[in-house]
Amino acid sequence: MSKDKIKLGVLLAGGCAGCEMAIVDLSEKLIDALEHLEVVFWAPTVADVKYKDLESMPDGSIDVALVDGMVRLDEHEHMLKVLRAKSKVLVAFGSCASEGCIPGMSNLFKKEELLEHAYKNTFSTDNPEGILPQPEWKEDGKYDLTLPRFLDEVRPISSVVEVDYFMGGCPPHPDFVGEAIGAIIEGKLPPKGSWITCGKAVCDFCGRNPALQGKKRELTTEVRRTFEGAPDDGRCLLEQGYICFGPFTQGDCKALCPKVGIPCRGCGGPLPGVKDYGAKAVSALGTMLTDEAVDQLLKKYPNLVQFIYRYSYPSSLLNKK
Ligand code: SF4
Ligand code: SF4
Ligand code: SF4
Repeated sequence: MSKDKIKLGVLLAGGCAGCEMAIVDLSEKLIDALEHLEVVFWAPTVADVKYKDLESMPDGSIDVALVDGMVRLDEHEHMLKVLRAKSKVLVAFGSCASEGCIPGMSNLFKKEELLEHAYKNTFSTDNPEGILPQPEWKEDGKYDLTLPRFLDEVRPISSVVEVDYFMGGCPPHPDFVGEAIGAIIEGKLPPKGSWITCGKAVCDFCGRNPALQGKKRELTTEVRRTFEGAPDDGRCLLEQGYICFGPFTQGDCKALCPKVGIPCRGCGGPLPGVKDYGAKAVSALGTMLTDEAVDQLLKKYPNLVQFIYRYSYPSSLLNKK
């Protein structure tokens, strides 16, 4: 094994591991990348390691660490802090790690409400004694068992450790992952603290974009949800009333959703310079919709917070209930 290989670590915090599937989806490009990369840590998805396996690695011994998933348990906080010490460069890999993503919608509820619902109130729950997960448990007076503590809220990983780079996507598109890994290998990364992104909006890659057809985008006069009928081919979804977040979302997926008639929901993350994704969404949509369409939007999406902050609520200025 060459000494010059970049030592890579991958840690899944509180996510679904879909971001790591995007690494695997690189397929033969991953084989090429592995000529330059040595995977020294990949847990818990690939290797069933213990805390001490990471804790015992020398500080700074991982060149680049990718973290996917958000912070929900005290275990995530601990592993993140240890990984930070072991890594020269740490990347928040995907929407959960960068912004909190869909699991962050749980911040609209209190921790106690979530536990009550999940362990007592769902139709499929069989828990007659109403037992909730206990962080510490003694079994037969003999065994001291512990579980990671469930924290009060979901947070992006930057709330726990310093993050060198952020990547959007739920998950990031494999081509984008390939480009990012290429940039890491070639040392062509942006200034620390930046998002790794082309910096263009989804609209810039969208074949439906009126501007790319030499036309002006028409105002949206009525709002339609996707179950109300299929959109016309080739025409901007927003013009047709389907609320599409393409104008204010990073386009590193190259407009994957609008390409197949599905409005962008914003998983790519905010365009550079945007402080609050939802606030940007409201201000941008305000200029694109007629007053009648705004009224329809509020009626058809009664929980607007869930709609506009689907991927970014924990990193928003609102952040929790
Ligand atoms: S960003 Fe999406 S794909 Fe990645 S871990 Fe979170 S939920 Fe899963
Ligand atoms: S608003 Fe959506 S459908 Fe319209 S051009 Fe932008 S990405 Fe494409
Ligand atoms: S079009 Fe929007 S929602 Fe779809 S993958 Fe791209 S950024 Fe994510």
